[in-house]
Amino acid sequence: MIRILVAEDNAVNRELLRELLEARGYTVLEACDGQQALQMIEQALPELLLLDIGMPVLDGFGVILKIRENPRLAPLPVVAVTAYAMRGDREKILASGFDGYLSKPLNPSSLTEELDRLLTKSTQSANQDEGHGGPPGRKDRAAGASGSGA
Ligand code: MN
Repeated sequence: MIRILVAEDNAVNRELLRELLEARGYTVLEACDGQQALQMIEQALPELLLLDIGMPVLDGFGVILKIRENPRLAPLPVVAVTAYAMRGDREKILASGFDGYLSKPLNPSSLTEELDRLLTKSTQSANQDEGHGGPPGRKDRAAGASGSGA
């Protein structure tokens, strides 16, 4: 059971994320502001956090700062979900310690990609049985490489 915390002050966005995540088989926890998000992370230790930037009490930048400075919470994968789309915002967000970035309005396939990327990564680092020397799959090329087809 993979639990994802959605920290988002907008009820409509929260509901949308819940539906998208539950449809993909995830268990959803919800927080309405940054302070509540931190409390829920401490208590429940979810597998991933989707974090809105613009929130009351404590914004997303405040939350990520608190997470990354706490050794127990620091490994948590955190994806920013935000309407901030100015040039440089993506860089600022990633430089603040977020693992990923999704812009609003949310693209469901981008959400899926980010979840697959981050949740697979943490699974792999837990049981590393594959080296990084390149896959021994060269013969796949010979077998299936006769053009792009119809
Ligand atoms: Mn917001």
